[in-house]
Amino acid sequence: MNTRIQFSDFSLSKEVAKAIEDMGFEEPSPIQALAIPLIQAGRDVTAQAQTGTGKTAAFGIPLIEKIDPAKRAVQAIVLCPTRELAIQIAEEFTGLLAHIPRITVLPVYGGQPIDRQLRALHQGVHIVIGTPGRVMDHLERRTLVLNDVATVVLDEADQMLDMGFRDDIEFIVKKVPQDRQTLLFSATMPQPIIDFSKRFQNRPEFVRVQYTELTVPQIEQSYIEVKDREKLDVLCRVIDLWDPRLAIIFCNTKRRAEELAGKIKARGYRAEELHGDMKQSQRDRVMGGFRKGLIDILIATDVAARGIDVEAVDMVINFDVPQDVEYYVHRIGRTGRAGKSGRAVTFVAPRDFTKLREIQHYAKVKIPRIPVPSQGDVARTRTLAMLDKIRKTISEGGLETYTRIIEQEAEGDLTSVEIAAALLKLQMEQGTAESPEIRDAITFPDTGAEPGMVRFFLGVGREHKVQPKDIVGAIAGETGIPGKAIGAIRILDSYSFVEIPQEHAAEVYEIMKERTIRNQPTKIEPAQGQGRRSSPQ
Ligand code: ADP
Ligand code: MG
Repeated sequence: MNTRIQFSDFSLSKEVAKAIEDMGFEEPSPIQALAIPLIQAGRDVTAQAQTGTGKTAAFGIPLIEKIDPAKRAVQAIVLCPTRELAIQIAEEFTGLLAHIPRITVLPVYGGQPIDRQLRALHQGVHIVIGTPGRVMDHLERRTLVLNDVATVVLDEADQMLDMGFRDDIEFIVKKVPQDRQTLLFSATMPQPIIDFSKRFQNRPEFVRVQYTELTVPQIEQSYIEVKDREKLDVLCRVIDLWDPRLAIIFCNTKRRAEELAGKIKARGYRAEELHGDMKQSQRDRVMGGFRKGLIDILIATDVAARGIDVEAVDMVINFDVPQDVEYYVHRIGRTGRAGKSGRAVTFVAPRDFTKLREIQHYAKVKIPRIPVPSQGDVARTRTLAMLDKIRKTISEGGLETYTRIIEQEAEGDLTSVEIAAALLKLQMEQGTAESPEIRDAITFPDTGAEPGMVRFFLGVGREHKVQPKDIVGAIAGETGIPGKAIGAIRILDSYSFVEIPQEHAAEVYEIMKERTIRNQPTKIEPAQGQGRRSSPQ
């Protein structure tokens, strides 16, 4: 029985319900469950929940339902601190609007040519998602009019106030009619937000999702850093290496679970998916097969796996970093049951590091990083397993015919050891011929760096008020490499160079591609030799 709130409890339009379904959301996240009904009831809401808990859809879903597509006017405005975020929110909204193409969304942010935004605004846009600075520009040019805005959202309100956008935000909010609905979303709730709420919200409701502390049983936990597109290959290696008898692999959405199940089955694993959309009879069938050991791998979503209690699960793999810290604890709790030992491995893509830190913080665990198992590791364990099988075959007897053949051969120029070794080699090569090769680690050609270092170009410089400490802080903070390992830094007007030790270069490159320095995208690229590269802009 499931007493948790479902999306169907919100009486959504069928277009939005369908879009949510397409996006693979199975049920509302805790902050969505709390905030959506209040927003639908027209209340002003101040909501606090950690990053990655689905705040965008928490305001996005009810906001979209209020828009009248027939009315050619901006009816909602979302303010957020950075351009990346504006784009990200716009993307999430576009997903939610997949079946209502008449409602249009426009992200506006600095750095993008203003005339493109002007044209779009002129053609009529229903929802504007923007950074305060650029929204101010448009207000001053009168290219954006907020007279028909019914909903104002401040997303990442704490960060925006921190960044000194306070006056801009107040100016913008004052341009919106008094009878608006004002929503604040934030990961933390410092005093300035409370003050802001007092001044600009009308009888606000405060909602907050806090992590409950959960004790993690004795489970060996680790994580592997892996890019999304390499996850499948790494997954196969992890399974081959540890060879679990029963494993559960968790994906964040049912769509991903379905896709992964298809791919894993195609590679010859005995796997089945389990997600919330399946009929009870289907689920029972899958769980029965899993309990009986007819299925080795269950590919599940959080909802579907709730309450699964199979004693012998020896491994849990988080193919995706879970949406919610509590999910992490629930997921890994599927293994190591009844006093047995268990292992949990989490795949962490570069963008998931913040989430991983939060998990460690709130679940009070230290999750060590392990390397991607190499083909060699896998081969070694497979060989050991094969030798076990050989021992077993010998002890079972019945080898007389074969012994005679080998004895005959060994009288010639082959020793029995050579024959055994060759047979083992043939046997071991059989399974590996088609096994996937992971792309080699990125190597960087001459970047004009000191020996042992790789020099990177960064698209931020003096004009972005960037100083060496910002670069060191950002790189050390985001990647965890020690600040003192970072080499020479050169800052020019619109760009900079930084040298990174070779062994960290690929990691820094991958991670920093998706990060910012002083709120500017890093535009990180390996530098070209000789240091004469100019800005790519
Ligand atoms: P936040 O703003 O709280 O940091 P986001 O709104 O960016 O979090 O959501 C994080 C991710 O979770 C996004 O990829 C989003 O599509 C996804 N997501 C949001 N709600 C759900 C849900 N109910 N079920 C599954 N995934 C969800
Ligand atoms: Mg957010």
